[in-house]
Amino acid sequence: MINEKCTRCGVCLTECPTQSITDGRKTYVIDVDTCDDHQACVAVCPVQAIVKFKVAIATPTPQAQMTANGPGAKPKPSPKK
Ligand code: SF4
Repeated sequence: MINEKCTRCGVCLTECPTQSITDGRKTYVIDVDTCDDHQACVAVCPVQAIVKFKVAIATPTPQAQMTANGPGAKPKPSPKK
């Protein structure tokens, strides 16, 4: 995530290997769908406007659980209270 400290200098733009940073209206922005979390941009920002932007997924979807458990795996039932 790029916060409000961003001065839109553009330094981070050339550092991103996946071109996931674009010029937004008030700040530059990171496309989290294409960002591979290289964090090359974090090191070059002169005002430390780029903060941790990939947040751990709190709860995997049943689809993600099936993929993680292998092909054909069924989602685990939720624990009952
Ligand atoms: S390097 Fe920092 S200040 Fe410059 S455009 Fe990127 S986020 Fe904004």
